[in-house]
Amino acid sequence: MPSAALPAPISGPPGEPTGGLPAGLAGGLTGTAGRPSPPRHLADLDPAGRQAAAAGLGQQRFRADQLSRHYFGRLTDDPGDMTDLPAGTRAELAAALLPRLLTAERELTCDQGTTRKTLWRAFDGAYVESVLMRYPDRVTMCVSSQAGCGMACPFCATGQAGLTRNLSAAEIVAQVVAGARALAGGEVPGGPGRVSNVVFMGMGEPLANYARVLAAVRRLSDPVPDGLGISQRGITISTVGLVPAIERLAGEGLSVRLAVSLHAPDDGLRDELVPVNRRWKVAEVLAAAWAYAGTTGRRVSIEYALIRDINDQAWRADALAALLAGQLAHVNLIPLNPTPGSRWTASRPRDMREFEARLAAGGIPVTVRDTRGTQIDGACGQLAALPAARADG
Ligand code: SAH
Repeated sequence: MPSAALPAPISGPPGEPTGGLPAGLAGGLTGTAGRPSPPRHLADLDPAGRQAAAAGLGQQRFRADQLSRHYFGRLTDDPGDMTDLPAGTRAELAAALLPRLLTAERELTCDQGTTRKTLWRAFDGAYVESVLMRYPDRVTMCVSSQAGCGMACPFCATGQAGLTRNLSAAEIVAQVVAGARALAGGEVPGGPGRVSNVVFMGMGEPLANYARVLAAVRRLSDPVPDGLGISQRGITISTVGLVPAIERLAGEGLSVRLAVSLHAPDDGLRDELVPVNRRWKVAEVLAAAWAYAGTTGRRVSIEYALIRDINDQAWRADALAALLAGQLAHVNLIPLNPTPGSRWTASRPRDMREFEARLAAGGIPVTVRDTRGTQIDGACGQLAALPAARADG
């Protein structure tokens, strides 16, 4: 049994206007009320909304398309670059529709510069992190969808701090635009490049910030000049398993990949590792995942962090294989990245091999996730904006 302290049960007091949803989730679904919203940005709006915004500024509607081309196509928000706009209106338009949302506070690299973590400070002092990972055949941006997270998974660094607020769509997109700009400018070793993949595996629970994450997906995948033109097939939304949101996502007509952070095949353990399991059980989460696979035709990723002597027993591998047999699924095993203060650590190599072998023997496609970024606290589950906290204090 796990010996580390576990969070208290998370169901809110009865009578809350949340329908009895867990506290962290309720915050996510209702937005993070009481906090000022980030400034409006072009990337929050769909093309019609941008044209309306331009008109609202007393400008011609096609100015919105010009601004979009600068931001999504040329990756610039500097009015000085926008020579196709009348000199007198550039600064005003840029200030109104392209405000700087995130300021890079700190940048850390490893893997000869091909992994790069950025700590961002938002307009209200909230911190989030993103990670760029360049591989020979692709570039993946791991982005945050919330400042902090309300899901309280005890093994995750972000989960320990609680939720600060939802990010706006444009704050999510800005993390990818920054990576795209660095790649286009040849700042990342390997020559000029493009972002091919985006994973919502940074800070936050993307499906608890549903509308903004969906808007961000559209901005990322719409072709230039409406968006960045990244294939939806290269975008992964990773979730603790918010069943109604998974069901809603399946109906959006998107082809993004769904990843489910399962981490245990049995409710007894999953209730502790992923506390929202107390609300939606393994069977319900997987049923929603298979429905997603059925609707989209996309194989679902099952994320499983291997935690020594907690969830890495051979019998749990067999139980997992039985749950997934015959489904459109693939398992990503992630050696746990221990977080500061946690008594949990990664599984022994032989236990990992055994776990993987048993899944494979059960006919389940399985890979072991590489743990890039460990040295810069940029690996899975390590994003906690700690350098900022230190710099602040
Ligand atoms: N909230 C979403 C997305 C963010 S976490 C989710 O839970 O899916 C991205 C992935 O990293 C999840 O699978 C999460 O469980 C995993 N993770 C979190 N902390 C980790 C850690 N310390 N070691 C390894 N993986 C971790």
